[in-house]
Amino acid sequence: MNIILFDRDLRIFDHQPMAEAAKMGEILPLYIIEPSQWEAPAYSARHFQFVIESLEDLSDQIQGKGGRLFYSINEVEIVLEKLLEAYDSMNVFIHRSSGLLEKLTGWTEENQQRLFIYGAEFDQVSAKAFNKQFQSYRDEPCAEAPAKIFVPKETPSILFTDMKKIHQFRVKGKKIRFGQQGGESRAIETLDSFLEERYANYVENQQKPLPSSFSSSRLSAYIAWGNISVRTIFQRTTEKLQSCENDDEKLQLEAFLSKITARVRTTCNQPEHKQDTEVSKIKNEWNEEWFQRWLEGRTGVPVIDAAMRSLVKTGWMNYSLREMVTSFIANTLMLDGQKPSDALAQLYLDYDPALHDFYVQQITGLRMKKVKIINPIKVGKQIDPDGTFIRRYVTELEKVPVEYVHEPWLYPAFYQLGYPPPIIDVIKANKLAGQRFKSLTKKDESSGKNGGDETGQLSFDI
Ligand SMILES: Cc1cc2nc3c(=O)[nH]c(=O)nc-3n(C[C@H](O)[C@H](O)[C@H](O)COP(=O)(O)OP(=O)(O)OC[C@H]3O[C@@H](n4cnc5c(N)ncnc54)[C@H](O)[C@@H]3O)c2cc1C
Repeated sequence: MNIILFDRDLRIFDHQPMAEAAKMGEILPLYIIEPSQWEAPAYSARHFQFVIESLEDLSDQIQGKGGRLFYSINEVEIVLEKLLEAYDSMNVFIHRSSGLLEKLTGWTEENQQRLFIYGAEFDQVSAKAFNKQFQSYRDEPCAEAPAKIFVPKETPSILFTDMKKIHQFRVKGKKIRFGQQGGESRAIETLDSFLEERYANYVENQQKPLPSSFSSSRLSAYIAWGNISVRTIFQRTTEKLQSCENDDEKLQLEAFLSKITARVRTTCNQPEHKQDTEVSKIKNEWNEEWFQRWLEGRTGVPVIDAAMRSLVKTGWMNYSLREMVTSFIANTLMLDGQKPSDALAQLYLDYDPALHDFYVQQITGLRMKKVKIINPIKVGKQIDPDGTFIRRYVTELEKVPVEYVHEPWLYPAFYQLGYPPPIIDVIKANKLAGQRFKSLTKKDESSGKNGGDETGQLSFDI
């Protein structure tokens, strides 16, 4: 039996494992819900909701071609063992990026079954080699979806096709009402709307909290769950670029393509899951009240609160806000980063461990011995000068004059607003954090590498 195991590749177009398996005849398209994965601290009900929406779409597409999508709620090895009892031999088809790769390699070797792995492998060290490999990946034609899909009439009882059972599976956390909806069709609609009109101010709006929610591609969740391939995005954008006559429009699209390239480059970095004991030593004692206030957007620092409330509501934030809320909890409040990192991961619909962990570690001093301490008041004024974003999400500040919106505690009528005073003096706290991180600095301090910049941000090597 030819088994296609879906993971974070929930699509039918440019799905090489499916295209290749279908050439062999009968196939068994399968999505396994592994309880152990969904119990992990970084996953939540909103991710599962996105996956369900993606599966519904995928199932419709497969049915449209005469097939069916099968499911199982079990650990992957248990499912494969049952399948092996039913079918004498198995060919398993997956993408190289599948989170199941390691388990499947072990299981297929041990059970002498064949594993077919598709997708490019990128060099993690040399930029030159990476560029060459990435170019050849993105220029290759996309894999067409099979014209017809044939699936077995009978399958072992460990598999089912009824989505109701999936809806009954419980994952921690709350569902989201105003988030992006999962599925390949939505991914294509999102790319279309970006390339038709939304890209026009991509660069200019990148850091601005509200404008970026329209002007950036908003493809991250679709890429993260594999509703669309990077190759499809690259080829469609390149086509658009070639038809552009206006230099400014070209610039926007080129900037977008460089982000897509950055994604592939970043995700091919090996995750460094490490807890730097030196950094742990300079942290404050865990403060649950601070953590909860940060998570619920009640720190009294308006741009942080607006960012966290917008994330809870929409499941998305732009890059600058992600940096800011991460630096605030881990560097300004100096709380240990793992629990906040998991809490953020649970809220981002586009949560991708390789990207999320990489950036969190980079900001909090756990990667390459660098740290980024951000002044949210100063950066807030730069990216949301008139406080439109703050007023949208922190309604307590709706009517506060613009000169006070980033520092409402200076407003004479502050105590009538019903908004909390700041949890901490940000400037003093950042200064202290800087001193503590610098105490970890070895010889680099005198080399002039360490220091602040005009954004009020301290970035230095530790
Ligand atoms: C602390 C932190 C955590 C992050 N966690 C995630 C995550 O879990 N998942 C995720 O997809 N992105 C993550 N990012 C990167 C970035 O913020 C998002 O990719 C971006 O905001 C998504 O919006 P968009 O699709 O509209 O982006 P666009 O600007 O339209 O970019 C297009 C695509 O390029 C990729 N991309 C954009 N910026 C970057 C970048 N700086 N590095 C690598 N790839 C990039 C994304 O896949 C994105 O969908 C994180 C950033 C930080 C600072």
